[in-house]
Amino acid sequence: MSYDMVIVGAGIQGVGVAQAAVAAGYSVLVLEQKAVAAATSSQSSKLIHGGLRYLESAQFSLVRESLQERALLLELAPELVRRVAMHIPVYGNTTRSPRLIATGLWLYRLLSGFDEDSEFSRLHRSEWDALDGLQTRDLRAVYRYTEAQTDDAALTRAVLRSAQSLGAELQMPAELVGAEHHAKGVRVTYRGEAREETVEARVLVNCAGPWATEVIERVTPAMKPPEVELVQGSHLLLPQSLNHHFYLESPSDRRAIFALPWEGRLLVGTTETVHQGAPEEARCLDSERDYLLGALTHYFPRMTIPRDQIESFAGLRVLPKAEDSAFGRSREVLFHANNEQAPRVLSIMGGKLTTYRATAQDVLKRLRPSLPARRAVADTAKLPLTP
Ligand SMILES: Cc1cc2nc3c(=O)[nH]c(=O)nc-3n(C[C@H](O)[C@H](O)[C@H](O)COP(=O)(O)OP(=O)(O)OC[C@H]3O[C@@H](n4cnc5c(N)ncnc54)[C@H](O)[C@@H]3O)c2cc1C
Repeated sequence: MSYDMVIVGAGIQGVGVAQAAVAAGYSVLVLEQKAVAAATSSQSSKLIHGGLRYLESAQFSLVRESLQERALLLELAPELVRRVAMHIPVYGNTTRSPRLIATGLWLYRLLSGFDEDSEFSRLHRSEWDALDGLQTRDLRAVYRYTEAQTDDAALTRAVLRSAQSLGAELQMPAELVGAEHHAKGVRVTYRGEAREETVEARVLVNCAGPWATEVIERVTPAMKPPEVELVQGSHLLLPQSLNHHFYLESPSDRRAIFALPWEGRLLVGTTETVHQGAPEEARCLDSERDYLLGALTHYFPRMTIPRDQIESFAGLRVLPKAEDSAFGRSREVLFHANNEQAPRVLSIMGGKLTTYRATAQDVLKRLRPSLPARRAVADTAKLPLTP
């Protein structure tokens, strides 16, 4: 068999690229070793957001793109992506002052092109008592603005279904075991349920998330893998919920932490712990659980938490390797190709759930020199997504 494109991984990036490629008229095969959204794409904070905090690290183009994609997803996937009111409490000792938060929210408005969801407000003191028992000692201000929430795995499945409706094929379970690139394409070998299969592709797109480096190491002639680091982010799922969504500052290290009602429970995250082992070994550590519960009880001192009923999950960010803390590092997608001008093997690492569609457009642009001319059959900016 031969395809224009073989994609490794059915996480959001893999299915996003599959959807964009079939819409552009290419034949596509997706290989997934385990299950759709089996890894990072079901372990996120489940926000479709502009990323207010990325303004602090001056990632303006990422924020602008994320806000545009958020607006589009609210339109294309109303049953999967819904608006939520986010609350930011600011205390006397919060590092970000009320003025800084207001400036950030103004900038957020500006970068969204003043869209209808960019309005924000400062709550009146009389409204504080209705905020789920939020600590009010030394509270200076509470800001409310709009974000969006999703079921990350359901969104991934919806994008895959959209790609399949346009002709994309999925092999699952199918683990990529080897790929040999040559002047005209790539010979791809994968292990299915019963045996190994080999197919030809013009290009191979590596969307293996935390396993992306392992996939690069299976490619011949050998390619030098990029310098990346896996940084674990853990979440807790508490049995009881709150009525409001909160964006908090961790009292111990001042990182941003979310406390989000989600499907009748409370999702609290996240952490940043460098992960050394195999990706499949990622687990929420006791220290991460204590860190998140410490932040939660600091802001909601009257909350009783049944500690034996807390569930947790851990996802891995693929970030460029650096000495500084992971918090301020770029969340832009990392691209890595065997040949920048005419790639046969292109790896996509990191990035955001929110911007999967824009990332996929970028991927197609990079791969055009290696692909034949085809007639587009659809536009992903107009394809509705349903659960
Ligand atoms: C803690 C955390 C919180 C986040 N929160 C948000 C958020 O709120 N909003 C947001 O927009 N973004 C968020 N992100 C970012 C977003 O979740 C990720 O960028 C995105 O899910 C990455 O998707 P992916 O497809 O690259 O990887 P994955 O979802 O990990 O998919 C990779 C897939 O490849 C498969 N695979 C691996 N090796 C092989 C092989 N050899 N053969 C076949 N298949 C293979 C795996 O089984 C897996 O299914 C968060 C990330 C983390 C870590």
